[in-house]
Amino acid sequence: MKVKKIDHIGIAVKSIEESLKFYELLGLKVVGTEEVGEQKVRVAFIPVGDSEIELLESTAPDGPIARFIEKNGEGIQHIALQVDNIKAALEELKEKGVRLIDEEPRYGAGGASIAFVHPKATGGVLIELSERT
Ligand code: ZN
Repeated sequence: MKVKKIDHIGIAVKSIEESLKFYELLGLKVVGTEEVGEQKVRVAFIPVGDSEIELLESTAPDGPIARFIEKNGEGIQHIALQVDNIKAALEELKEKGVRLIDEEPRYGAGGASIAFVHPKATGGVLIELSERT
């Protein structure tokens, strides 16, 4: 497998609109938003160099982002590493005995193929693998 770069950092927020005020002070701009129904989340994309910050706002009280905020408060929820071939990456990690949340890639915001690695396997960080198509 080949990790190319940090694709994005996912930040759980109560309100995209409220959180944006800070990023706008930095001169950063949202280039788009998307609602991902399956993950009960609304995502705002903020490019930073050739990576992105993604603000994640829950669209339902039982969604994963709502649960994260309930437990931890707002803050960094995951770090996404861009890989060139997500299927090959997942196969390789499985062979190496790495615990995965997703054994198969699924749809991610922005049209990427994504899969999560279990935080128990990574030292406590939720790592997303992302292949941009
Ligand atoms: Zn992500």
